[in-house]
Amino acid sequence: MSYHEPQFRIARACGAIALLSLGACAVNPATGGRMFSLVSEGQEIEMGQQYMAEVDAGMGLYGNSGLQAYVDSVGQALAAVSERPDLPWSFKIVDDPVINAFALPGGPVYLARGIMAYFNSEAEMASVLGHEIGHITARHSVEQISRAQLMQVGLVAGVVLVPELRPFGDALSGGLGILFLKFGRDDESQSDELGFRYMTRLGYDPQGAVDMFEILERQREAAGGSIPEWQSTHPDPGNRVVAAEQRLAESQIEGGIVRRDEYLRHIDGLLFGKDPAQGFFVEGRFVHPVLRLQFRFPEGWASQNAPTSVLAQSPDKDAVMQVTLGQGSTPEEAANAFFDQQGIERLGARSRTVNGLPAVQGTFRVTTEQGTLDGEVLFVKHGDLVFRFMGYTPTSRMGTYAVTFERSLESFAPMNEERWINLAPRRLEIVRVPDEMTAERFFERFPSTVTLETVLQINGWKTGQVIPAGSSAKRVVGEGVPGDE
Ligand SMILES: [Zn+2]
Repeated sequence: MSYHEPQFRIARACGAIALLSLGACAVNPATGGRMFSLVSEGQEIEMGQQYMAEVDAGMGLYGNSGLQAYVDSVGQALAAVSERPDLPWSFKIVDDPVINAFALPGGPVYLARGIMAYFNSEAEMASVLGHEIGHITARHSVEQISRAQLMQVGLVAGVVLVPELRPFGDALSGGLGILFLKFGRDDESQSDELGFRYMTRLGYDPQGAVDMFEILERQREAAGGSIPEWQSTHPDPGNRVVAAEQRLAESQIEGGIVRRDEYLRHIDGLLFGKDPAQGFFVEGRFVHPVLRLQFRFPEGWASQNAPTSVLAQSPDKDAVMQVTLGQGSTPEEAANAFFDQQGIERLGARSRTVNGLPAVQGTFRVTTEQGTLDGEVLFVKHGDLVFRFMGYTPTSRMGTYAVTFERSLESFAPMNEERWINLAPRRLEIVRVPDEMTAERFFERFPSTVTLETVLQINGWKTGQVIPAGSSAKRVVGEGVPGDE
C-alpha cells in the first residue's frame, strides 16, 4: 500500500498501528495518555529547528533585544517546570502585527508582536506562553505537522517542483501556512490546562489566564466578521473564559505574581499595527518607503504584503502576480538565474527601461501536471537591488491577461514622496495616570491615533471603568499606515 494514504483514518487508533512501519505508539509525556506518533523526539526537535530557521528568516523577528530577552526569560522559567524541561526551548517575538501565538515541534514558541500589545501583565503573557508550551509538551504540534506533511505528500507529489510557481490555491497563503495549524478543541483545552499548571507552579496569579481569554473574547466580538488569527486557530474564547474560571475556582489558588508595571515598562514604545517600513497599499498602489519604490497590481485583485513577497490574485483565481527579490546584481543575471531553472522554458526576453530603471522583460512557460502556465516577468534594478515582478496564468488564459500583466509591470517606479517616506509608525506609550478618571476621560486627556474602542481593548478596560490615580495605562501615538485600524 502507498504509505501516505490510510494513516489519517487510523492515526487516532493506536491498535491498528502494527500495520504501519512509519508510526509508533508512545506515552504522551505531558498527559500520560497513549498517543500515536510518527516521529521520535530527535526527529521532532530537528523538525522544529528547521521550521524555526524558516520562521526567523521568513517572518523576521521584532528588533527589540531587551523585549526579546524578557519574553525568553519568562518562557524558559515556565518550560523548566514542564514535563519536558530538557527540550531546546526558545521564545521569540515575530515582527507581525496580528494577534497570534504559535508553537513548533520540540521547543520553539513564538508570540507575534501584535499580541504583546494586548497583554497587561507578565501573568497574562505567561498564560499564553504556558498554553503554547502545552502544545509542545503534549506533542500536539508535531502530530499536526506530521499529518500536514503526509497530506502534502498526497497532494503535491508529482506536481510542478519549481518553487516560484506554486499551485494557485496556495498563492495567497504562502509557504508558512503550515505554521498556523488548527488544533482540535480537545488539544486546545488540554493546552489551557497545561498552561494553567505551569504558570501556577511558578506562582503566577492564574487570574491572568481568565483576563487574557476575556480580552481575546472582546477582541473577537469587536472584530465582527473578520476573526483575527489567534482566535481562528484557537476557537471558542467564550467557553474558555468559563473553563478558566472553573479551573481557578477548583484550584483554590488566590493571588500570586502579576507584574503589571514591569510588563508595561517592557512594552513602552512597542510598534502597534502595520509597520510602514515594511511597505503598504495606498491609493491603489503599493509603496515601500524604505526601498523607495512603488507599483500597481490590477484593479480589483486580492493582494497581500507577505514577508518575502507582495502578491495578488485575480478575482477568478486563475492568475497571480508577485513581486520579490531576484537573484544577482543586474537584471541580466537575475533573468538568467530564473530562466536556467529546470522546468522553466524561456519564450523570449529583451532589455528595456521601465520608468528610467534598467530592466529585462521576458515571457516563459512552465509545464505542470495540470497543464502549462504562461507568464510575463520583469527583472528591474532599483538602488542596489534587483526585483522580480511577474504574472502567470494557464496558457489558455494568457490572451486574457497579457495586457493586464504588461500594464502592471510598467507601473514599477521609484517613489520619493515625503509624506510616505516620513510616515511615523504607531507605537504604544505607557502613561502614568495622574488622577482617578474614567477610561473615556483618559482617552480625552491622553489622545490616541486609534479609536476609543481599541484603547479600551488594549488596556483590558470596560466602558466607564474608573482608572485609579498612579496606575500605568497604554495610549497609541504616531500616524501609522493609512487605513490600518
Ligand atoms: Zn492553542
